Amino acid sequence: MSDKNFADFQLSKEITRALTILKYDTPTEVQSKVIPLAMKNQDLVVKSQTGSGKTASFSIPLCERIEWEEKKPQALILTPTRELAVQVREDVTNIGRFKRIKALAVYGKEPFTKQKEELNQKTHVVVGTPGRVIDHIERGTLTLEKIKYLIIDEADEMLNMGFIDEVEDIINELPSNRVTMVFSATLPKDVENLCHKYMKDPVNIDIAASGITTDTIEHRLIEVKEGDKISLLKDVTVLENPDSCLIFCRTKEHVDNVYTELDEANYSCERLHGGLEQQDRFAVMDGFKMGNFRYLVATDVAARGIDIDQVRLVINYDVPMEKESYVHRTGRTGRAGNKGKAITFATPFEGKFVKAIEKYIGFEIPAMEAPSSQEVEAGKAAFDEKISGRRVVRNNKSARINQGIMKLHFSGGKKKKLRAIDFVGTIAKIPGVTAEDIGIITIQDHLSYVDILNGKGSLVLQAMENTTIKGKTLKVSKALK
Ligand code: AMP
Repeated sequence: MSDKNFADFQLSKEITRALTILKYDTPTEVQSKVIPLAMKNQDLVVKSQTGSGKTASFSIPLCERIEWEEKKPQALILTPTRELAVQVREDVTNIGRFKRIKALAVYGKEPFTKQKEELNQKTHVVVGTPGRVIDHIERGTLTLEKIKYLIIDEADEMLNMGFIDEVEDIINELPSNRVTMVFSATLPKDVENLCHKYMKDPVNIDIAASGITTDTIEHRLIEVKEGDKISLLKDVTVLENPDSCLIFCRTKEHVDNVYTELDEANYSCERLHGGLEQQDRFAVMDGFKMGNFRYLVATDVAARGIDIDQVRLVINYDVPMEKESYVHRTGRTGRAGNKGKAITFATPFEGKFVKAIEKYIGFEIPAMEAPSSQEVEAGKAAFDEKISGRRVVRNNKSARINQGIMKLHFSGGKKKKLRAIDFVGTIAKIPGVTAEDIGIITIQDHLSYVDILNGKGSLVLQAMENTTIKGKTLKVSKALK
């Protein structure tokens, strides 16, 4: 956290209101440094870890700067994974909720036509993975002429995943009078070159990683033979008895094995890896966020894009092969001022990987003994009690910000020549309702959706049953989705 205040940035009342509901009281360090410069449209290269509050550091200025009236996308955010794209879209939507900012995530494995239709609507911010963004550009379904902001998130990971050429291809299609911001945990040469080539006198911002990895996270290392890992895992979880826990494995097979073992031992658990269908992956992530289960066993795919407020414990069931992965995995706990713990299981042959990680993070991970049978025995009752109860999620940000919002479905859209302004004009005339109570409006060919905020949904629904829009009688109902 920093000694600055969000009020110092002179944000609009719509954004300030969202920040209050999200409980973002004080800006984090990266936010204090990025927001004032981004508000002045300065190109930025920001070295910061995940968990530092970097998403809001660019989403707040973006939401402020976006012109609501403009129909074509004004900001493009590139992310290396689908999960992160979805997470960033959610963050932008939450922050821009009361300014009615419409953000859309585009990524592979989801039907192209669905995204195409959505891109046809007014869209302020597009968040996407490079491959699918290129598809949309090539097929003419994503218009770039109004893009004023390009954000490249987790640029080092784009490089690791081999996306850097695609990122460059996309940059070459964008208007040159744009603002570019690059966020990266590390700045490998190729990323720096990219920045030099395509940015205008970027200001470098360096947020020390140590604030994230050591101050708020207790790191521990346990040496264990491969064959003893499962029983160690069970002992450690009994002893730690976390409210929520992420267990990272190197391969899908390990995830499946560990998951099966825990499931059979009646742990409240789920699994996440690249071999699952995209819909299932989202369902699992949502379930974890909602507190439907406590233990999530995952590969590194899941290390990114999971923004869960209070993961108490991260277990590296397998030592990560890449040193950066250690930071990403453990960065899932100890977020935004909360305390967390990260325990790594290392076999006697994995010393060199551990050493590489320690060199990278700049400190030695303190060793700990495996829990003794007495300790495990003593913890068993409390563990059994917790595992049988549901996890209580104290801070589901999206749920809070969506409170009091009702989505209404109207049986008419573009084909009836209806525009957003027609809905606003009509709804804002209802006694007790103002334009501020109207959220995002989506107009499709034959139907439209209008979000009504501030708990006024039923009032509007009732009034609109007997009110025409632009002289047309439409059926109105509460939308199912
Ligand atoms: P990020 O680094 O963007 O993944 O954000 C890490 C976490 O911090 C997310 O759960 C954010 O919702 C949360 N967060 C971001 N900014 C703040 C803030 N100023 N105060 C409290 N929490 C924040």
